[in-house]
Amino acid sequence: MDGTFNENDLSRVVEADRAHIWHHLIQHKPFETNDPRIIVEGKGMRVWDQKGKEHLDAVSGGVWTVNVGYGRESICKAVYDQLMKLCYFANTAGSIPGSIFAEMLIDKMPGMSRVYYTNSGSEANEKAFKLVRQIAHKRYGGKKTKILYRDRDYHGSTLATMSAGGQDERTAQYGPFAPDFVRVPHCMEYRKHELDGAPEENFGVWAADQIEEIILREGPDTVGALCLEPVTAGGGVIEAPEGYWQRVQEICKKYDVLLHIDEVVCGVGRTGTWFGYQQYGIKPDFVTMAKGVASGYAAIACMVTTEEVFDMFKDDAADPMSYFRDISTFGGCTAGPAAAVENMRIIQDENLLQNCTDMGDRMLGNLQALMEKHKVIGDVRGKGLFLGAELVADRATKEPMDEKRVQAVVADCMAQGVIIGATNRSIPSRNNTLCFSPALIATADDIDQITDAVDGALGRVFG
Ligand code: PMP
Repeated sequence: MDGTFNENDLSRVVEADRAHIWHHLIQHKPFETNDPRIIVEGKGMRVWDQKGKEHLDAVSGGVWTVNVGYGRESICKAVYDQLMKLCYFANTAGSIPGSIFAEMLIDKMPGMSRVYYTNSGSEANEKAFKLVRQIAHKRYGGKKTKILYRDRDYHGSTLATMSAGGQDERTAQYGPFAPDFVRVPHCMEYRKHELDGAPEENFGVWAADQIEEIILREGPDTVGALCLEPVTAGGGVIEAPEGYWQRVQEICKKYDVLLHIDEVVCGVGRTGTWFGYQQYGIKPDFVTMAKGVASGYAAIACMVTTEEVFDMFKDDAADPMSYFRDISTFGGCTAGPAAAVENMRIIQDENLLQNCTDMGDRMLGNLQALMEKHKVIGDVRGKGLFLGAELVADRATKEPMDEKRVQAVVADCMAQGVIIGATNRSIPSRNNTLCFSPALIATADDIDQITDAVDGALGRVFG
């Protein structure tokens, strides 16, 4: 290999991949005998691999990202034009697309006011964590440094975000972690039997009350923030039950705890509103977002906060320690906001929030019909085009389905030309949920093709 190979020589691409690429999140042993998959091209809802095989992408680029679909010329053009004009300048100065996107974004987020650009979801979350710590030092004499996070939630791959990681299989081998992160119980109705003392009725309020108990146990003067996903993604596609969010908001207010909502997956349309939290009428202090912000056309993430939080960092300008001493080099790339402006315009002009709601309803209906037919589906849940179907070995005990068989369903769909996903929670309790998050442009035919593939796969794998 001399590094000069022709990109059209796909067998060389595969060879170089096998020799040099360390892929994310997967075991590489199978590549000793099987070819790694190379995704070569995408258009609309579909992608093509190195063998020229067409796939309907039911997971928006694998991880809930390409919300407006592949091959959008207007985004590519906006990015090209911006890069030719100015590719980069550190965000200590402003930029034209940075200002335009911030104004568009804040317009969709009543109550929020300031946008901090970064380049990954993990990083955006860390910015909010750092602000909470700095506020503790500025306002509370170094107390209120604790950050609460929830079982089954995920906030990123860095050490601080893993310290707030509620998925043990992703964190088990990477400790020790940062101090002062405290876990609260999950709010998953379907698995409430796994929580000591969970009631049959009003589980949502009970689950939120557990947060209050933990705040009281830790000491309200030590707890600075609560970080939650609006709908939990990788932890099993979990929407909080009735009553949960209202209690969460009351508790945060009562104990002066800042509410940080991680919209890295839900952000920018995925649930049918611009942001997931807007489904539940809550008022966060921090909102972080990444994947759908520019649908993967450029790397961009944002930490958004209120004017009230922002103001704390410009008081006492004479004090050199008063402001936010933080930078993200690539938060100054202009390609991100240029792509994000066009991405948001597309969602608006093509009425994709409504399409997301309509197609989400259709898909939920299809999945519910599959649940009638296949007893391995224990639960179907989600919001908008962000849905999951949990597979169980036994409906009565809710014993989770063996991960290998869940993967066999995913592989069967892949063989049929439909890419779906699965959460693979192996410890402490398994929770193997098929995941669906097609682009917001999905048509009724696309939705039916996805659920038909799942129907066929379940039939073959489970007989
Ligand atoms: N928060 C949530 C809810 C996520 O799903 C993810 C990524 N899967 C992250 C944060 C981290 O984002 P990134 O991979 O861009 O760091």
